[in-house]
Amino acid sequence: MLLVRLAALVLSIHAASADLGKAVLFANGLKEPLRKLDDITRVATTKTGPKNLDTNSICKTLARQAGCTDDQVTGKEVWYADCDKPWALCRCSDANMSFDTMERRWAKVPVGLRSYGGTLLAVKRDSGCVAYTFGGEYIRFHGDCGSSVFIHEVSHTVDKGFSSTAAFKDGVAKSSCVPDSYANTNYVEDFAQLNVCLTWALRFGVLSDAAGKDAACMAPQYNLLKSDARIKAAQSATQCIPCVRNNCKTRGIDDDEEINTHNITMTQTSMCEFPAAGEDD
Ligand SMILES: [Zn+2]
Repeated sequence: MLLVRLAALVLSIHAASADLGKAVLFANGLKEPLRKLDDITRVATTKTGPKNLDTNSICKTLARQAGCTDDQVTGKEVWYADCDKPWALCRCSDANMSFDTMERRWAKVPVGLRSYGGTLLAVKRDSGCVAYTFGGEYIRFHGDCGSSVFIHEVSHTVDKGFSSTAAFKDGVAKSSCVPDSYANTNYVEDFAQLNVCLTWALRFGVLSDAAGKDAACMAPQYNLLKSDARIKAAQSATQCIPCVRNNCKTRGIDDDEEINTHNITMTQTSMCEFPAAGEDD
């Protein structure tokens, strides 16, 4: 109950500063009504190995920003059965999430969406979960972040400017609601929550049923995601999609995350709070 009250508090803070000012489809957030997202079957790991990290690697750079020193950061490479390229996972030695936990939760993210996500880093947080996305593809998790948070964060990596288009903003303007209070924060969070809704709806049911009211109020914006060819491909892929990460073209690769940060703009593209996110494996 305490966690629920905290969740309501944080949501109310967001609602108070809401830029979009829309009504919400899910009054108490997406986590409970869409909790079947936790039931997505995770893909098997086929191979793992240690990852050596350069001083200027993404992991060490992002870790330093979170107060974690270079000697505390270790890396691991993970290959899943749906991709012949590995993902790099990193953690600070006192991070709440173990490598195994990160590996399992990342394995539940549908592979087409996961393709957009780069290296993941876990650091410590005393309670709850906060997550940041950098450079449109690198995700830093603070605390114990559940798989629904992994899906929310990866949605930021899939965004690729979609949420700032005139078409999307027009879709929001023509909608009388957004998914939840968190989506009201701004267009970026709205896009991410819409993609979480879409991820659920394509696998588990009808949003109106889950919400207990007609989801048509958000149809103009939601349908833009639903009908977008790139997002459709990301939602339906059964194998990883090559070269869709932000830095793929400039690097000429998209498999090796042992890259440094010299030529990458590590702009923070989102900051997302989830008061009680840890759960399921
Ligand atoms: Zn977010």
